[in-house]
Amino acid sequence: MSEHERFGLVSRRDLLNIAAVGASALVTSGVSYAASAAPKKFTQKQAHYQPIPKSGQRCQTCALWQPPTDCQQVEGPVSPAGWCILYVRKS
Ligand code: SF4
Repeated sequence: MSEHERFGLVSRRDLLNIAAVGASALVTSGVSYAASAAPKKFTQKQAHYQPIPKSGQRCQTCALWQPPTDCQQVEGPVSPAGWCILYVRKS
């Protein structure tokens, strides 16, 4: 499936919601989660999670990955070899 075809599977509403919440989470992740009890995570379905890498991108190299099987934004468990549309390369 091409990148364009895969992108077509994501509804505009899903994409806008994920982009808005993801951007907000990225901005606040450097501050603290102390102010909120338990940050709500996306379901794996919402994040279009897959248990295999995509185009060389994988959870293990994502800034949101929390070893060994957790993610800051997506409900676990997630595989180190997994991937989702919220992927952010570690700097
Ligand atoms: S790619 Fe990143 S954001 Fe997505 S599930 Fe893996 S660690 Fe989480």
